[in-house]
Parts: sequence; structure tokens; C-alpha cells
Amino acid sequence: MIERKDFYIDGAWVAPLDGTDHAVINPSTEEPCATISLGGQADTDAAVAAAKAALPGWMATPVEERIAALERILEAYKARSEDVAQAISMEMGAPIDMARSQQFGAGFGHLKDFIRAARAFEWEKPLGDHAPNSRILHEAVGVCALITPWNWPMNQISLKVGAALVSGNTMILKPSEESPISAMVFADCVEAAGLPKGVFNLVNGDGVGVGSQLSAHPDVDMVSFTGSTRAGKLISKAAADTLKRVHLELGGKGANLVFADADEKAVKRGVLHMMNNTGQSCNAPSRMIVEASRYDAAVEEARAVAEKVTVGPASEEGRHIGPVVNATQWEKIQDLIQKGIDEGARLVTGGPGRPEGFNKGYYVRPTVFADVTNDMTIAREEIFGPVLSIMKFETEEEAVAIANDTPYGLTNYVQSSDDARRVRLARQLRSGMVEMNGESRGAGAPFGGMKASGNGREGGAYGIHDFVEVKAVSGWAAE
Ligand code: NAD
Repeated sequence: MIERKDFYIDGAWVAPLDGTDHAVINPSTEEPCATISLGGQADTDAAVAAAKAALPGWMATPVEERIAALERILEAYKARSEDVAQAISMEMGAPIDMARSQQFGAGFGHLKDFIRAARAFEWEKPLGDHAPNSRILHEAVGVCALITPWNWPMNQISLKVGAALVSGNTMILKPSEESPISAMVFADCVEAAGLPKGVFNLVNGDGVGVGSQLSAHPDVDMVSFTGSTRAGKLISKAAADTLKRVHLELGGKGANLVFADADEKAVKRGVLHMMNNTGQSCNAPSRMIVEASRYDAAVEEARAVAEKVTVGPASEEGRHIGPVVNATQWEKIQDLIQKGIDEGARLVTGGPGRPEGFNKGYYVRPTVFADVTNDMTIAREEIFGPVLSIMKFETEEEAVAIANDTPYGLTNYVQSSDDARRVRLARQLRSGMVEMNGESRGAGAPFGGMKASGNGREGGAYGIHDFVEVKAVSGWAAE
């Protein structure tokens, strides 16, 4: 059993001033696996004061040195890869092999890409030939609160810390109380990199406590938040009085449009993508919308693929899926599966209850519904579990209309071998990202959404843009 109650404030691990003990539960066993402390106002204030004091020095540090600091963090992170993977697997239930590859790897990829993007970024540039003495400067926003979720813990932490750091901001990270141990290993890596004290701080806490305190704090200039749409609204309201900048990366209800001319692996790819990370991805393709002539075959194929997805403890090696994160999520998913049945969707495979052989652990049966209509609860709400809804369309216009008929707008997917159609659809889909034919986005492509999925963009140069102020200067000495 791990005990890690200290916070990282002003360059040192310090005991909480106003902490409450909190048990972290291993979702594979339902047993406590760690004790941490949830901070209070005094801890929040101490971290914000440290970040505020460190700001002028870090802003004035040449960008090459800030990039060098990120390179040292990346080295330390690489050296702690197994600790990161073990912590993630234990606290949020990602199977260990997947935690080693995808979960750890996401953080590694983002940190590495920020080094590339920061080197290429135009931190200062002339406005244009028409105004030779006008200069545009990109400067830090200031003290940033980084509030992150548990589902892809290193992915979100690296996207925020990497961008904030190279841009000259100082920061307070408040990781999810469900996944604090991996975040503290990340903080160890920052400590190993030897940054000036106060540039990076970590305070554990819950949303009502440290989360709200940071959002409302007068000395915090920006909140970068990834998590639920519910919390995003509360943070926006809490931040309004101090007019701080709020960047939100929220939930999703991605449509995966499968046309009759899609490649033969399209359905399998969609089902496996949905089940990955036990369905706990904001960009999960949770609504598979299939052209009528391929619909029946697609449903059968989805059943076969889902029935081959095995479920098991996170500590076990192999390609299974783990439990969902906690009891609340498990209950919520069960309710939504039941609602799907009650509202008349056809249960193709899976269903309520734990998979066979489990009487403990937050395990969910890989579930596929067919004959779903877009007004059903399972088509409208983010389920955040291994549950796929399949729908039918007759025409391309109808497919686009169904895809866009959602409060969310994070990622949509298109499967079609018709080049012109893909280009047409990429323009018509109302989402921050459109992924087509299984091709993943390039490194540094902006990640983020529109509508109820939020407003921020993370990763690469676009991610850096979100963490800078743009300053217009006239009378600059001509070069
Ligand atoms: P959550 O909103 O409950 O918690 C996320 C973080 O916010 C945690 O650190 C939590 O402590 C904090 N928080 C909660 N209430 C708060 C409040 N009132 N004020 C300040 N902070 C608060 O979400 P979760 O359950 O941890 O994560 C799952 C959600 O995150 C899903 O809805 C998912 O779609 C979304 N998500 C979005 C993206 C994206 O980039 N769009 C990525 C991953 C996850």
C-alpha cells in the first residue's frame, strides 16, 4: 500500500497544511491501493503564491533554456516509464501492457513533440513588410492551473505541462484524485529536471476543493481543464469573477460514418477503437452509423469482434480490456445499458452485469447495441464505457445530419474509399477533429473540440498558442 501525502510546492515535497486523507481504490480489486491527501485552501494558496513568485524569472528565461528543461523532463520520464505504467494500471485500471505502450507513450509523444514545436515556433515576428516597426511577441499567460482527468492521465498532463512550460508560464497541476500516483511520478520527473523553484507545483485535491479554489483564485491567470462537460461549466462559472482565461477539453459522442464502400477492416477497427481503454476516451467512436446496404453485415461483424474482446485485471499482461475506473462510473454505465434496452435498442452482445467469472472489480461486458436511433439516451449521452451504438443511414445527407445532431463536437470518423466524399464530409462535420479511414492524426495536430466538447486546442504549435498572450508592439527598432 502506497502512502504519498505530500504536495510538490516551491521546489520541494511538503506536508499538506490543510489536508484530508483519501484512499485511492484499485478498480480491478475494489481494494485501497494508496493513501494521498486532498488539499485545502491553504495548500492551494501556497502553490499559487509559489507559482506567482516564480513567474517573472521563468518568463524572462530564454526559450532555449525552457526547451532544455523540457528535454530533461523527457529524459527523466523515459527513465521512470515502468513506474508510470504500473501506477496508471493500478489506479485507473488500464491493462499493464496497454499502460506501458499507449498510456505512457502518449505522454512521451507529446513532450517530445513540444520540443520540436517550440523550436519551430515564432515567439517574436514582424507584423509584415507594410509595418516594419511593428512586432508581434508571444508571451506567457502567467500562472496557470492545470486540472486533469484520470482516463489518459499522462496524455493530459503532458499536453498541459509541456505547452505551459516552454511558453514561460508557471503552473499548479491538480491531477484527478482517481489517478494521483502517476501524476506524482510525473512530478518526480520535473523535480529531477531541476527547474527553478515554483515553476511547477502539484497539489492533490478534489473538484469541490482544490479544483474550485484554483478556478476562482485571483492570482491564477488561466485554467486549462480536461474532464467532463459538467465540471467544465462549473469551472467557467467559478472563473468568471476574476475574468481568467479558461480552456476546456470536454466530453464527446463521436460518430463513425461507415459507407458501403469502406475498406473491409472498417467495422472491426471501429469496434476495437470503441473498446480501447474500456471505452473511457473522450474521442471514442461511440456511434457507428452504417450505410443501409452494409448494415446487417456490420452488426454481425461488430458482434463477432466485441465477443472476442476479453476482460481481465489490469495487472495481467495481454491484450484484454480492464475494469472501468470506479463504482460510480460502473453504476452509470449499467444504468445506461438498461436504458438502451428499455428504450428499444437491440442488444446484440454484452448487456448489464459483470462479465462471466467476475464477482468483484468494476468490470463491464463489452456491449453492442443495434437499431439505435439518435434520440435514444445511449446515442445522446457520453457513456464512457465499452458500449457501442449502431445506427443505419440511407443517404450521405442523412449520415451527416445524424453525426452533427449531438451537443458534442470532438472527433468524428469517416470510412469510405471515395476521395471526393471524404473531403466533402471532412468539411461538413461539426467537430474539432475528423479522422478518416483509420489514419491517425499527425504529431502536433491540434486536439480539441467545439460545442459542448470545449474550446481549447492541445498539442504541438496549436497547444503552445493556447498558452501564450499575443502582444502587438509598435516603434520596434528596425533590424
Ligand atoms: P471530471 O470532470 O469529474 O474530473 C476531471 C478533473 O476535474 C478532476 O481533476 C476533478 O477533480 C476536477 N473537477 C471536478 N469537478 C470540478 C470542479 N467543480 N471544479 C474544478 N475541478 C473539478 O471528469 P473525469 O470523470 O475525471 O473525466 C472524464 C471526463 O473527461 C469525460 O467526460 C471525458 O470525455 C472527458 N475528457 C475529455 C478529454 C478531451 O480532451 N476533450 C480528454 C479526456 C477526458
